[in-house]
Amino acid sequence: MTAENPYAVLFEPVRIGPVTARNRFYQVPHCAGLGHVSPRANAVMRGVKAEGGWAVVSTEEAEIHPTSDLSPAREQRIWDDADRTHLEWLTEAVHAHGALAAVELVHNGFHCTNFYTRVPPLAPAPVPNDARQPVQARRMDLADIRALRRWHADAVRRAVAVGFDIVYVYAGHDMSMLQHMLVTRYNDRSDAYGGSLENRVRLVREILEDAREVADGRAAVAFRFAVEELMGADGLQHDGEARDIVGMLAELPDLWDVNISGWPNDSQTTRLAPQEGYQAPYTAFVKALTSKPVVGVGRYTSPDAMVAQIRQGTLDLIGSARPSIADPFLPMKIREGRLAEIRECIGCNVCVASDNLCVPIRCTQNPTVGEEWRRGWHPERIEAAVSGEPVLVVGAGPAGLECADALLRRGYPVTLAEASATLGGRAAREARLPGLSSWVRVADHRLQHLREHANADLYPVSPLTAGDVLGFGFRHVFLATGARWRRDGVGGHGRNPIRGLDRAHVFSPDDIMAARLPAGDVVVYDDEHGYLGGALAEHLQAQGCRVALVTPAAEPSVWLHNTLEQPAVHKRLLEAGVRLHPHRAVTAVDGRAAELACVHTGRTERVACDALVPVTERVPEDGLYRALAADPDALERAGIATLRILGDADAPGSLAAAVYAGHLAARSFEADPAEVEAALFRREMPLHVSG
Ligand code: ADP
Ligand code: SF4
Repeated sequence: MTAENPYAVLFEPVRIGPVTARNRFYQVPHCAGLGHVSPRANAVMRGVKAEGGWAVVSTEEAEIHPTSDLSPAREQRIWDDADRTHLEWLTEAVHAHGALAAVELVHNGFHCTNFYTRVPPLAPAPVPNDARQPVQARRMDLADIRALRRWHADAVRRAVAVGFDIVYVYAGHDMSMLQHMLVTRYNDRSDAYGGSLENRVRLVREILEDAREVADGRAAVAFRFAVEELMGADGLQHDGEARDIVGMLAELPDLWDVNISGWPNDSQTTRLAPQEGYQAPYTAFVKALTSKPVVGVGRYTSPDAMVAQIRQGTLDLIGSARPSIADPFLPMKIREGRLAEIRECIGCNVCVASDNLCVPIRCTQNPTVGEEWRRGWHPERIEAAVSGEPVLVVGAGPAGLECADALLRRGYPVTLAEASATLGGRAAREARLPGLSSWVRVADHRLQHLREHANADLYPVSPLTAGDVLGFGFRHVFLATGARWRRDGVGGHGRNPIRGLDRAHVFSPDDIMAARLPAGDVVVYDDEHGYLGGALAEHLQAQGCRVALVTPAAEPSVWLHNTLEQPAVHKRLLEAGVRLHPHRAVTAVDGRAAELACVHTGRTERVACDALVPVTERVPEDGLYRALAADPDALERAGIATLRILGDADAPGSLAAAVYAGHLAARSFEADPAEVEAALFRREMPLHVSG
C-alpha cells in the first residue's frame, strides 16, 4: 500500500492494551446461529474473515456459566474446560491468518430463560424474561454477586488459555446482566450495588478489574457498552448517565466497544436507518473521555465513510458485523483498491433472522456464509470450470444473476437473456418501494462484474420461448424465470379464491411495483407476512390511497420480528395512517367493499374497498422449463445436455434463497452429484459428553 492510497489510514496498526491490531478493521462480536452447536462451521467461518483481512475477529456472545443458558439459541459457550477444544478451533482458525481473536464473555441475566439448565435466571431484581416467556428471575444476593465475579474471572482464565487475545466485559443490547445492573428500571437494589450511579457501576468496575488481573497482560480487556438506549430517561442516554459511566471507567478497559441498545437499535436495517454511520451521533463523544482506542459500528461499507470516522476522531477502529458477513474480504478489497468488487451489505437482517430462528447464518448478498465448512464454499474462490462450454442463463433476477456470475467466475462463457429492459428481476422491482432501495445492490454487484467481463453477453428485452432455447445451440441451459404474485387471494390462510373478484379492481404487488397504482380505499391483504405487504401499504398510503392492511396474523409483517423490524414497521404503518385489521381474512369483495372474517370466530365485517391488493402467494414462472422438459427428444436433437430450473421459478422464496439457489446451481454444475448431495447430510453431532 502506498502513502498516496486515500485509505492508508485504515491500515495503520492500533495498539489495544497488550496486543496490536494489524489495521483498523474490527469484526465486532456477532451471532451466527452456529456457536457451540456448530463449532467447526463457526471456526471456519470466522477464519475466512481473518483471511479477508480483518484485524480482529470476535465470537458471538459466549455464555460464561450454566446460569446463563441461552438455549435454544446457538451462541458460544465457555462454561468449563469441556468447551476448550471447540474454542481452540476458533482461535487457531483466526490466528492462522494473522488476526486477533476476541471473545464476548457474557452473563445474560434475566434475558436468558435457562430452559436447558432449569435453574432460575439471575438478575438485580426479580424481573420477568424480556422475550415474553413466563419466567422471572431470582434477585441476586451478595453471595450470588460474588459467585458471578468468580464465574466471569474463570471464563477470562479459560479464554486466555485457549488463545483469545481480547476478552470482553459486556454491558449491551439490553441482554446482559452488567447492563441490567446499570439501569434503574431493572436495578432497584438498596445494597452496595444499587441506588447511586457509583453503586450501579460497581459490578462492572469489579468485573473489569478482575478481568485485567486474570488476563495479566496476556490479553486485552474490551468493554462493550451501550451508550444510548433510545428510551429517554428510562434508559441510558449518551448525554446523561452513559456519558458519566464512560467518564468513571475511562481508562479501565483496554478498548471501548460502543454502540446503541437494544439489538433492534444497534442492527437497524436500511429500511429504518438508510445511512451508514447511523450510530455516530450517539457514540462520537466517547473518544474525548478516554485515551483508550474506541471501536463503533454503523453498517459501514464505504471506505470514505470509514476514513471520515478516523479523521474526525470519533473512532479508532471500524467495527463491523453485517458488512463483514456480506463481504468477509472487505478489508483486503479496500487495501488492494478493488472497491468495485465489494459486496455491500444491503441491511436486510436476514443474517439476524437466521440467528433468531436458531439456524446457521444466511446472507442475502453472500451465499457462501454459513456454508464455508458444510459445503466447503469460499467467498472469493470457486472451482474452475470442467468442460468450459458456454452456458445460457434465462432470467436476470437474483437467481439468474448469481448463477451467471458464479459460472463466469468458474470460467464458463455466459449468455444471459432477460425478458424485460431492466436487469435485476425482483431485486430491481422491489427496490422501487420505500425503504427497500438498497435491494438493488444485489443486482448491481453481479451486473457490474458481468458487464465488464468479455466472456459474458447480456441480452435485455429478450423474452425467450422454448423454440428460441432449442434453436440457440447451447448445451447447458439454466432457467431462472422467477415467479409472479397471485391475484386471487389464495395463500397460506385461504386455499380458495376470494369471492367476487370478477366485480373488483385487483392490483397485484407486481402491478404496484410496475407503477400501476390503485386509488381510493385500498385493502392490502397480507397473508405472506414478510416485508412486502407492509411496504406496499406504506407506499400506497403515501401515494394518497386510504389503505387498510388486513392480515390473518396478530400483527402486520409479523415475520419481521426475526429481522428485528416488526415494532418499528408497525409504528410506521400506524403513524402513516394505515388502518390495521389483524386476525382477519379477506373472504369476499364486490367493487365497493371487502368482507373480512375473523380467523378465530368467523364473524364478518365490511370495510370500504375500491381496490384489493392480495399479497398472498406466488406462482412459479416455470412454463418455459415445463415446455422444454416435456420434450426430451427435442432437447436431445438440440444437443441440450443440462436443463436446470432454479430460484423462484423452482420454488418461490426469499431474495436470499434465490441468490443461494443461483450460487448452488453454478457450483454444482459439472460437479460430482454424489458430493453435492453429501453436503446435505453433513452436520455436526455431539460426540463428547462432559461432566
Ligand atoms: P429470482 O428471484 O428467482 O431470480 P425474479 O422474478 O427476480 O426471480 O427474476 C426472474 C427474471 O426472469 C425476471 O426478470 C423475468 O423478467 C425474467 N424472465 C421470465 N421469463 C423469461 C423468459 N422466458 N425469457 C427471458 N427472461 C424471462
Ligand atoms: Fe447485510 Fe442482509 Fe447479508 Fe445481513 S443478510 S449481512 S443485512 S446483506
